[in-house]
Amino acid sequence: MDQTPVMTVEEARDLLFAQVKRLPAEKVALLDALGRVLAADAESDIDVAPFDNSAMDGFAVRAADLLGASAEAAVPLSVVAHIGAGDDVARIVVHEGEAARIMTGAAVPEGADSVVMVERTHVVEGDGGTGSRVAFEIEPKLGEHIRRRGEEVLAGDVVLPAGSVLGPAAIGLLAATGHASVGVFRRPRVAVLSTGSELVEVTDKPGPGKIRDSNSYSISAQVLAAGGLPVRYDIVPDDMDATRSAFTLAADESDFIVVSGGVSVGDFDYVKPVLEELGELVFCKVKMRPGNPQTMGSIRGVPFFGLPGNPTSTYVGFEVFVRPSLRIMQGLSTIDRPVTLARLAHDVKKKQDRRYYLRGRVDRDSDGGGYLASLTGSQSSALLKAAHRGNCLVVLPEGSGVFPAGSQVDCMRLDMEEGTP
Ligand code: AMP
Ligand code: MG
Repeated sequence: MDQTPVMTVEEARDLLFAQVKRLPAEKVALLDALGRVLAADAESDIDVAPFDNSAMDGFAVRAADLLGASAEAAVPLSVVAHIGAGDDVARIVVHEGEAARIMTGAAVPEGADSVVMVERTHVVEGDGGTGSRVAFEIEPKLGEHIRRRGEEVLAGDVVLPAGSVLGPAAIGLLAATGHASVGVFRRPRVAVLSTGSELVEVTDKPGPGKIRDSNSYSISAQVLAAGGLPVRYDIVPDDMDATRSAFTLAADESDFIVVSGGVSVGDFDYVKPVLEELGELVFCKVKMRPGNPQTMGSIRGVPFFGLPGNPTSTYVGFEVFVRPSLRIMQGLSTIDRPVTLARLAHDVKKKQDRRYYLRGRVDRDSDGGGYLASLTGSQSSALLKAAHRGNCLVVLPEGSGVFPAGSQVDCMRLDMEEGTP
């Protein structure tokens, strides 16, 4: 009789996360930092914007010259300069009674304190450029349509603090402040191993008794989606020596090891004995379905996670345990998917006491109020289609019984990033 203690999902996650450490930082090209976590405060080498500049195509003016100007009583000024974006305005001065034609992003010349958009002016004489006279139909507010030097950040100040998750806007800020490369926490290199003497490569047609190894692909895809770097290893047959050498190699070459299959109580399940021999086994049973024999440990300090081989068991186990671990390793502080509270669209019978993670869809209720959840097909852990059709895992708490239509359930959103409110 197997006396291994059964963990709750929370106990198991705590034990796992205690062994998972944030990886060291590395310097990467700016664009490769997308989605990653800044390892140190990023400072700006310049003021951004570097100079006062126009927010409009129009005219740089002295607001005091246009007191009382209106459409009915337009005030004319002499145009003394024509300034485009990128022009040096060091030698331009706008005196009383004068204006400078100016384009968006162009530096505001000395003397001018406001910008009037071109739509609020009309040409009285000339072509509107230097030497023309232009009438102004509004009285600008002082400073109107001028973007100030240093509005975004000042030279020497921190533009983004350590720990910032770098989305496209952050990448833009780092570019504006002179960071061609940036220090971010390393992506975990994840060894992905499939065990099973029944497995053949995707390029082979399975012979008698054989099936294709789909798990190393679905798991590698999940690793990629989680920001990790998957390395698929050769299929490991159900053999003690082969398992031992595969795990040893994986521990040498990676930051995290994910194995599928071979963790049950089958006669040829060698994952646990080899893990105990090479490293440490922390737990091997979690009170959940699918995938009760989730197996966790470490080999020479490298965290190890053994997922049960049924394709949906690996899929769910990865979401509950491995994905959050890979986020911790990348320095991300939000590790759990958003949860949507929904009403069940139909009855669901729960036969076992374990926590269920059922493959389903959650959508806004047609009456607009809340959310409605339904299962997306057969819940056999050997089948993947329900997971493909779904967008969530419908979580049913421990305890057995019927959850009638209308029951409130938590839906773990697989279609939303962690940290989405
Ligand atoms: P196991 O956890 O090794 O007992 O495997 C449970 C079930 O999952 C068995 O039916 C296996 O054939 C199947 N299975 C194991 N590994 C894979 C894999 N890499 N790809 C697809 N199915 C698998
Ligand atoms: Mg097996």
